[in-house]
Amino acid sequence: MNSNQIVVKKFGGTSVGSIERIEAVAERVIRDLNKGEKPVVVASAMSGETNRLVALGNQIDSNYRGPAYDMLVASGEQVSIALLAISFEKRGYKAKPLLAYQLGIETDKLYSKARILNIKTEALHRWVDEGIIPIIAGFQGVDEEMNITTLGRGGSDTTAVAIAAALNSSSCEIYTDVPAVFTADPRLVPKAKEIAALSFEEMMEMASLGSKVLHIRSVELGAKHNVKIHLRTTFAEREGTWIVSEQNLAEYQKGKEKMENPLVAGVTHDASTVVIKLNPIPSDTSFLANLFQVLATRGVSIDIITQSQGAEGQRLAFSVTQEDLPLTLQVLKEVLKSAGSVHIEQTIMDNVAKISVVGVGMRNHPGVAARFFTVLAAHQIPVHLVTTSEIKISAVVDQQHLKKAAEALHTEFKLDAQ
Ligand code: ADP
Ligand code: ASP
Ligand code: MG
Repeated sequence: MNSNQIVVKKFGGTSVGSIERIEAVAERVIRDLNKGEKPVVVASAMSGETNRLVALGNQIDSNYRGPAYDMLVASGEQVSIALLAISFEKRGYKAKPLLAYQLGIETDKLYSKARILNIKTEALHRWVDEGIIPIIAGFQGVDEEMNITTLGRGGSDTTAVAIAAALNSSSCEIYTDVPAVFTADPRLVPKAKEIAALSFEEMMEMASLGSKVLHIRSVELGAKHNVKIHLRTTFAEREGTWIVSEQNLAEYQKGKEKMENPLVAGVTHDASTVVIKLNPIPSDTSFLANLFQVLATRGVSIDIITQSQGAEGQRLAFSVTQEDLPLTLQVLKEVLKSAGSVHIEQTIMDNVAKISVVGVGMRNHPGVAARFFTVLAAHQIPVHLVTTSEIKISAVVDQQHLKKAAEALHTEFKLDAQ
């Protein structure tokens, strides 16, 4: 069969957040099916459910990570795909709810942040050919020992794009609760504007800086396999944002953003940043290398790192995501123990957030950093950590200042909707 007619459609938590919404999703997919599409559905857990499951586990041991954690947090998707399947069947359409082990979404064993190694597609093609609608649990995989694994929070997007890539589809639809990718999270900055199209690279940068509208690995996979991502809303029949390769960008921008690259394309925030400070660090020169090496092998990505001279020796500050905090603290304990330095002063700042401005237009324009810090200073917002690259500036600020900082930067870089 022609696999180009297959369209992978992923529905996020809010889109399947109630029985009414689940039934509305079924009706929308049926409308597409009747237009000639061959839908393959991927669904997240009902909104709030994964948080509830994480909180249950935390009540017992918030530091635990392993197969039981993944089994726990993956269970929300089982409910939503089953409810979707019932909704299709009620309407006279054949549907097959599929957990990762049934479909064959094979991953490594890095629990809570597993990577997809392979997806079996023969059965998927067969079901689609037979007119059965596959409804696949997002976020989960299965390792070689048949343990359930999960891909990291927000990972259903990655499931969807990986399936689209495995089916050689040229695009993948991600249905969510906002109509598009905006110049900032519209919940934080009400004046944010819709973006018609973004390159994979720009979206990756935004995702890596905390914009959770798309899981970063879904964008990486899109770029790698050239699967265009169409982010759109479940709640209206309209186009959203296309995330495409740079060569295709102009075609999808529809003249809206062609004039000139804005200096800053968007303001991104991450409210789940945690800063860990050590004062002083062990004097052993291999300490830092060892710490970051062990964190990397355990799948923790470190964001901002600063080291400075304090009264008692070198001080270290680095940031990780809230999700990675238990694992980070576990590793830190082990590494400090093996360095014979268990009594080092540790400070954990978890009431902070990261705010960033992103844009390829910054490359050749000095002065963005000056404007960035002038705006924060004008609003009396203290900055804890800073990092910059060619196309972004990020600062860690107190959470209480986040909204003010985001709105002020959005205005400063002329992104506000008129
Ligand atoms: P889903 O459950 O559908 O996967 P998510 O909550 O993961 O939805 O992602 C959608 C949310 O991402 C939006 O509700 C919005 O608050 C947030 N978001 C963050 N940054 C942006 C942005 N730049 N543009 C649009 N939405 C954003
Ligand atoms: N349900 C999972 C989460 O809340 C995966 C997802 O929504 O993409 O993180
Ligand atoms: Mg999401």
